[in-house]
Amino acid sequence: MRFGALEAGGTKMVCAIGDETGKILDRVSIPTETPERTMPKLLEYFRDREIDALGIGCFGPVDLNPSSETWGYITTTSKLSWINYDICGCFRENLKVPIGFDTDVNGSMLGEATWGCAKGLDTAIYITVGTGVGVGVLAGGRLLHGMQHPEGGHMLLARRADDAYEGKCPYHGTCLEGLAAGPAIEARWGEKAERLADRPEVWELEAYYLAYAITNYIMILSPQRIILGGGVMHQEQLMPQVRAKVKEMLGGYIQTKELSDMDSCIICPSLNDNQGILGALKLGIDAKTAADKQKNL
Ligand code: ADP
Ligand code: ZN
Repeated sequence: MRFGALEAGGTKMVCAIGDETGKILDRVSIPTETPERTMPKLLEYFRDREIDALGIGCFGPVDLNPSSETWGYITTTSKLSWINYDICGCFRENLKVPIGFDTDVNGSMLGEATWGCAKGLDTAIYITVGTGVGVGVLAGGRLLHGMQHPEGGHMLLARRADDAYEGKCPYHGTCLEGLAAGPAIEARWGEKAERLADRPEVWELEAYYLAYAITNYIMILSPQRIILGGGVMHQEQLMPQVRAKVKEMLGGYIQTKELSDMDSCIICPSLNDNQGILGALKLGIDAKTAADKQKNL
């Protein structure tokens, strides 16, 4: 069988065709503009490729509540032209195949859980630190949704006493994203994050906020593994500092095999930047399985 996969991002749309073994057979990247300009290009890519289902990992927030009338919509996004846009409805109407839909970070989490470093685990989290901060959660072997999906990137944090920056999130000011995403680093230090490599104080503070949030995720979710990706994590000096600070913040309170080996517990993604598109592929595979099951009822 052949499946369509779409990693829908704020700047680009990665479209791919793959099979049930996780093999990507073809891939293109299309810039994200308005739905009117972008959707026809995406439909054109998928239309004649004989896909059995389509999986979409999408920037959000999105409506994932199956009993909601607006399931499959992008909702309150900062990309104004996509607010309340029925992205799944548009694909379903035009392609007439089952659609699997989740957030981009849940997609990356699923990719790692299916073919990468979270394979076989019961509970894990995937954190991306880039233009925003997103957190995908695998709990009990499944992606966690609850009322829609967790928004761990907006976990509220107390600003450190020596940090005068007021925070960048329009909703919360000093949530994790407001304090630690790429644009917050740039606003605090007056220079793009990638140009601050030789300023140790930048990365010490960044590691502090990431570790602060991760410690909270550990307390509440008990993850066996924590995967950290996104542009900001290209700073190789960050990872060891994050691990050391998490250990310090936990204060020896939780004694597990996983936490005794921080280097294997808090790690980089394992799928060479394919975790997002592979997760979308798995969403498509799962949508097809669910649709077949429904048919046989
Ligand atoms: P997006 O989140 O838009 O999908 P990225 O994950 O690449 O894209 O994140 C972009 C952010 O990451 C920008 O704020 C940028 O400044 C920052 N960034 C990109 N590369 C680096 C780097 N090498 N070091 C630190 N920050 C980086
Ligand atoms: Zn926020």
